[in-house]
Amino acid sequence: MSSPISKSAFIKAEQCLKHFYLYKNHLYLRDKLSKEKQLIFKRGIDVGIFAQQLFPNGIDVTISEKRNQELFAQKTQELIMQGKSTIYEATFIFDNLLVMVDILHKVGDTWTAYEVKSSLKITETYVKDACFQYFVIKNCLPNLTEFNLLTLNPKYVLEGELDITKLFKTTSIMKDAVKNIDYFTHKSQLAKLTLEQGKIPDIKIGTHCFSPYSCDFIGTCWKGTEDASSVFSIGKLSKQSLFDYYDNNIKRIDEIDIKTIEKKEIKIQIKAAIEQKEQINKQQIVSFISEIKYPICSLDIEVWMPAIPFYQGTKPFQLVPFLFSMIYEEKGELKKYSYFKPIENDGRKEFLESIINSTKSFASILMFDKSLEENILNQLVELFPEFRMDVLELKAKIVDLAEPIQNGNYYHPEMKGNFTLKSIAPIVHQKSSFESLDIQSGITAMYIYESLLANENNMEQETIKQQLIDYCEMDALVTYQLLQFFKKNS
Ligand code: SF4
Repeated sequence: MSSPISKSAFIKAEQCLKHFYLYKNHLYLRDKLSKEKQLIFKRGIDVGIFAQQLFPNGIDVTISEKRNQELFAQKTQELIMQGKSTIYEATFIFDNLLVMVDILHKVGDTWTAYEVKSSLKITETYVKDACFQYFVIKNCLPNLTEFNLLTLNPKYVLEGELDITKLFKTTSIMKDAVKNIDYFTHKSQLAKLTLEQGKIPDIKIGTHCFSPYSCDFIGTCWKGTEDASSVFSIGKLSKQSLFDYYDNNIKRIDEIDIKTIEKKEIKIQIKAAIEQKEQINKQQIVSFISEIKYPICSLDIEVWMPAIPFYQGTKPFQLVPFLFSMIYEEKGELKKYSYFKPIENDGRKEFLESIINSTKSFASILMFDKSLEENILNQLVELFPEFRMDVLELKAKIVDLAEPIQNGNYYHPEMKGNFTLKSIAPIVHQKSSFESLDIQSGITAMYIYESLLANENNMEQETIKQQLIDYCEMDALVTYQLLQFFKKNS
């Protein structure tokens, strides 16, 4: 018999049988896991381990065993037979389907399973996954009478000692689980049949490649569609609209009849593809930059969103700013300034004071997509209302350089439908390269900052701090350069 079908594999079968088949038989074709995804998985595992404290003194079947899920399943059975009442990562195999559950807890004669999600909300996908877990476990453990999802409680505020019983919210999925038993019987047969056929299912790419998750084999199936001329390189259009073109044999952007397009931000992309050059609405750009008052600086803020609140008065996933960087000109030279908040201290008040004082002398503050920064400033002013006037003044000076790009007044074919600062960086300044940095995204920056909590090595801490500052300064620098680029080209 082939190796058991795990929950991860089964989810893939639900999305696309080709995904499932490739995952089971051609794993070597899988795309490289991005650093962001790895860090998100790690956070999920950390929150799962943290939640074990709700049911202390359990036994983790994955500890002191070889990384072999069939051995984990054997160990789970042994622990159940021994009368243990709390098992972590309990593993079950039924009909060659294998699932693990974060916590299995027994009260009296009946068992309850808990699956932990590092999330504030329950999604349809979480419920479906949990129903599949229930289906397998119930067949192995008839006295399983309850299956719950544990999510982070959005209303929980850390006050004093962390109260884990209030931090997590428990939601039963039993109604759906019982209803879906026949569904899983049928779907698991289909998955097995696919494996028995011994050949890769002939399934075309489609919107399913991204739902509910981005497929692991995009690099294999989507070969030939990644260049700048492909319709899939159009940004700001739904996946369905892109497939409407693709399925109607319109595979290149320059095959689209531009007269049928109304939206300016789409039109500019098609024009850029047809003419094979950048598009700039000089009049609009000139008008935009004429509003800017001098002296100017550019500003970028990095945030941390700890799943488990770390500072007093904060909630799960609350935005906590920890770093800002500025670029400005002084006597004809570019200068930079960064403020870094150590993770051990809350320090949000000092952060706010520092950002207010550092930007006071500038008449315009350049940002790229100000929404996050404005959100942070609004949260900080709620907390420290004595700074309301200063924050209002600061916000009034913000000039969002993403606006002319988002509104379709500038586009370069090399942006490939991507309207982020990272996609514009190589266009505005050849030397501005995020690729050379250790940290290349805000999400990575957030997790790397979090890693300081577990790092006691001073040298490593300093290295991490510098990597974070380098990243934030690069964001501020490219934003600054974008304005110079607009000025030069308009
Ligand atoms: S990329 Fe799309 S078609 Fe290919 S395996 Fe993944 S989901 Fe299926």
